[in-house]
Amino acid sequence: MTKVSLLIPAYNEEKVLVLLYQRIKAIIDSLSQYDWEILFINDGSKDNTLAVLNSLRNQDERINILDLSRNYGKEVAMLAGFDYVRGDGVIILDADLQDPPELIPQMLNFWEQGYDDVYAKRNSRKGETFFKKKTSQWFYKILQKSTKIPIQLNTGDFRLLDRKCVEALKQIRESNRYTKGMFSWIGYNKKEILFDRDPRAAGETKWNYLKLFSLAIEGITSFTTRPLRISTVFGGIISFFSFLYAIYMLYDTFIYGNDVKGYPSLLVIILFLGGIQLLSLGIMGEYIARIFIETKNRPTYFARSYNGDKII
Ligand code: UDP
Ligand code: MG
Repeated sequence: MTKVSLLIPAYNEEKVLVLLYQRIKAIIDSLSQYDWEILFINDGSKDNTLAVLNSLRNQDERINILDLSRNYGKEVAMLAGFDYVRGDGVIILDADLQDPPELIPQMLNFWEQGYDDVYAKRNSRKGETFFKKKTSQWFYKILQKSTKIPIQLNTGDFRLLDRKCVEALKQIRESNRYTKGMFSWIGYNKKEILFDRDPRAAGETKWNYLKLFSLAIEGITSFTTRPLRISTVFGGIISFFSFLYAIYMLYDTFIYGNDVKGYPSLLVIILFLGGIQLLSLGIMGEYIARIFIETKNRPTYFARSYNGDKII
């Protein structure tokens, strides 16, 4: 029997898990031609998530639980999931029911037709603020413009992956992860399906703007070095004009004899150059920081237990 796994990262989701389980159960019980696994990754939750998961596992042996040693963030939690998941097909799902499990049959359909990555694209983003929608739109525009790999717009991690995609993703061990980019980067046959994203069923979002901003920086710096180019180009243009201006100044001084004019323009130029230099340094710093972290080559995560058994 074909094994299909649901991979669900969960961080402080005690309020929604039972509801989630009921919704999932209704779907997977109706698809009895598959051998189901529900793998929860407890990403260092500080509430009763683990206890709730354990009691669910007592009711349903299709549930497996991987307990991470601390909170690593969703991106790393998903990698841990790829390492432990068993299915021939793997469906990544948010715990908060923003990704409707009702889409699963449709995903399986396309998978059976031979697609390797069936991803769900959002039609609408109910329950999200105008500002969040706009900023995420801008981010994707910038990312799209600056990398050569096509990154799917309005697409989250909600998707069905064939085993070969999972094996590919497992090999990408970097600890600064931008999984959404990796899905595109590994290639394989992709298929898009559309859905309306629901508001969170219960509990709170784990993202604030600061976290989203750092995910955005992650997305850009891990998939393109174009920003480094931007600072080179800017530097070049500015140097060129400064050179012209210097010639003009020399000419002005020698021909007309210059008294102390131009204090304001001087200040403007100095400030402008200072700004550009800081920006370029910042951009370089972002990349160097990543080199630093990746060269340490630390394990990406540690897990405490799998289904209650200690992991050594
Ligand atoms: N999540 C996680 N670790 C974290 C933050 C979030 O595993 O540090 C999980 C969370 O439990 C949920 C999914 O990632 O299943 C998406 O999180 P959330 O709903 O907070 O993000 P949003 O939908 O607001 O983008
Ligand atoms: Mg959510």
